[in-house]
Amino acid sequence: IVEVSNVRKSYMLGDMEVPVLSGINLKIEKGELLAIMGPSGSGKSTLMNLIGCLDRPTEGQVLIWGKDLHSMSDEELAHLRGIEIGFVFQTFNLVPRLTALENVLLPTFANSRSIDPQKRATELLKLMGLQDRMYHKPGELSGGQSQRVSIARALINDPSILLADEPTGNLDSKTGSEILQIFMDLNNEGRTVVIVTHDPEIAKYADRVVLVKDGEIQYN
Ligand code: ATP
Ligand code: MG
Repeated sequence: IVEVSNVRKSYMLGDMEVPVLSGINLKIEKGELLAIMGPSGSGKSTLMNLIGCLDRPTEGQVLIWGKDLHSMSDEELAHLRGIEIGFVFQTFNLVPRLTALENVLLPTFANSRSIDPQKRATELLKLMGLQDRMYHKPGELSGGQSQRVSIARALINDPSILLADEPTGNLDSKTGSEILQIFMDLNNEGRTVVIVTHDPEIAKYADRVVLVKDGEIQYN
């Protein structure tokens, strides 16, 4: 479903090029629950951003459903990001001025699969146990609640791939296992789920664990 081949990614700091990924090869199969682990700063978020079509590689190829990211127009990329791929950010990225419900509805403004996004958003927030927090703004929510709003937002367009960057990193272990359960349910429904995590508990339930280290993937 996603194929990353010989991908290099560097960031420019002034006129200095800082390499982060130095030759990544990774194939993500449809329906799998994949955990990506690795030390802080190893490039996990960088890799997720490439898989999520939020950024393009410096070198190498990212294929999504066999289509090269390089050959896609901005419109095609926007469509993929909006409809096919759900992204849960490491730092939630909720819009502070909007309510939980409005945040969940955001991706549907450009593009939606649902006939009644409002109803779907309400259902998702209920599923996340947030039925009495719909009209709260992010500043009035706990970390775990914010994370669940961002998961609901990632699911609003019913994406076939769900990418989550440290979805439990900021949560206590009880909330963390609730969130893990949500991801496992989504995976059991047939969604492809990729989770970047430091949490051995999540790795235990994954179909496959890969380690990003020194800019490469180390398979065990
Ligand atoms: P963590 O576990 O702490 O989230 P990570 O594995 O997700 O770390 P990345 O966020 O991918 O790591 O960052 C990898 C390296 O790239 C780091 O050294 C970071 O400083 C650098 N980096 C990330 N984003 C940028 C950017 N936009 N511009 C310049 N350097 C960046
Ligand atoms: Mg990260």
